Amino acid sequence: MAHQMTVNNAMAHTSTYNYPKPNPKIAIIGGGLSGLLTATLLERAFAEQEPQTCTPKITIFEKSRSVGRLATRYRTDEHTNKQWQWAFGAQFFTAKTDAFSAFITPWLKAGVIQPWCAHVVELTPNSEYQSPDIRKKEQWDSQHARYISTPKMTSWGRALAAELQHTTLKFKTHVAPLIQTKVAIDTQTELFDDTGASLGHFDWVICTVPAAQAINLLAKSGFDKLAQIRQPQMQACYTLMLGWDSAEQLPNVLRDDSLPIWDVAYLNESVLDRIFIEHHKPAHGELLPSITIHARNDWSEVNVDEDIETVQTQLLAAAQQVLQWKNRTAPSQIDIHRWRYAATLTTEQPLGIAVDNSRQWIVSGDWCGQGNIESCYQMAVETIQILMNAYKN
Ligand SMILES: Cc1cc2nc3c(=O)[nH]c(=O)nc-3n(C[C@H](O)[C@H](O)[C@H](O)COP(=O)(O)OP(=O)(O)OC[C@H]3O[C@@H](n4cnc5c(N)ncnc54)[C@H](O)[C@@H]3O)c2cc1C
Repeated sequence: MAHQMTVNNAMAHTSTYNYPKPNPKIAIIGGGLSGLLTATLLERAFAEQEPQTCTPKITIFEKSRSVGRLATRYRTDEHTNKQWQWAFGAQFFTAKTDAFSAFITPWLKAGVIQPWCAHVVELTPNSEYQSPDIRKKEQWDSQHARYISTPKMTSWGRALAAELQHTTLKFKTHVAPLIQTKVAIDTQTELFDDTGASLGHFDWVICTVPAAQAINLLAKSGFDKLAQIRQPQMQACYTLMLGWDSAEQLPNVLRDDSLPIWDVAYLNESVLDRIFIEHHKPAHGELLPSITIHARNDWSEVNVDEDIETVQTQLLAAAQQVLQWKNRTAPSQIDIHRWRYAATLTTEQPLGIAVDNSRQWIVSGDWCGQGNIESCYQMAVETIQILMNAYKN
């Protein structure tokens, strides 16, 4: 029988509630790629156990309606019914390890993931009236492939979610901070949402939210690796999304045949960091001209609490200096997004996941690794090793 407890504030509680070990109840906080990959690998690992004695019951709690920093925004032109589309979080990902390459192969075969052999240039803005310097940098190829998810950057996350069999995804559920508790043998953790409503008791809690949010969730919990998770630092990123009504209306820098062909530009001497041409991506040819621009992380971090309209004005001025639009070639669609926690300041030796064995809590996420999508997979692998050790027959 579950403990009855009075909840004054939203909080989580570890009780001495005994549970049948065979079918572990596992909570994953955060429905980004780390959460989804953890659930996928957990289901596979339990299914492969010999003899198969347990089936996990996994619940992913996600405060928003989508899959984290793999994000797509789109708008439809009411006249043509065509779309502008922007991957305004991660633009692409690598698969440098054999394990991750093998893992993504089925989705590559299905076309949900596709390599992007983009032409990459370095772009240095000039004065207001002079085109920028554009120098060829590289072309991404199959040897050092960059991958995207199609038709949208969110598609792979949604495909992963759709294949889960023992996992319930609870969107729009904001998990509240966990509180200090005594550790007991055979513990379960009761989680609560931010209204104080119970989300259930769990044998293991895996937290996959960005670093600052993980600290916020665990600061008063007694989590014994708090010092470890305070180490990595994350920086913000502002993302500008621009759209034009037709290719003819694009400024010259984006359509002049005498300039080097480019799909991705790395910028010098600008508050802008990278420009991505969305309608050049594989399986994106039907889009109306759509450009995504990430501002530099250091600039974004300094300006993270600035009024968003002021930031948009500054970034638009920087974009206009680079892309050189005039009235006739100005974008018809303009949008901006502020990522408070976008990029991890990487160190040579990533932390890896943080495990509190006595409470059966694990803190994971891309920032425990190199801060990219491949790290989500690597951290999921580390998490599964800990859990499968605990459930070894
Ligand atoms: C602008 C930008 C550009 C990037 N570019 C690249 C790139 O080119 N290549 C690359 O590999 N990676 C890139 N990344 C990084 C990549 O997006 C991340 O590595 C990856 O998406 C992280 O996934 P995650 O699941 O660890 O975290 P997230 O995607 O952040 O997922 C965590 C989830 O937890 C949820 N959450 C937070 N708190 C709570 C709570 N209390 N209760 C419930 N849910 C909660 C959040 O809503 C979020 O959905 C980029 C990221 C950004 C923002």
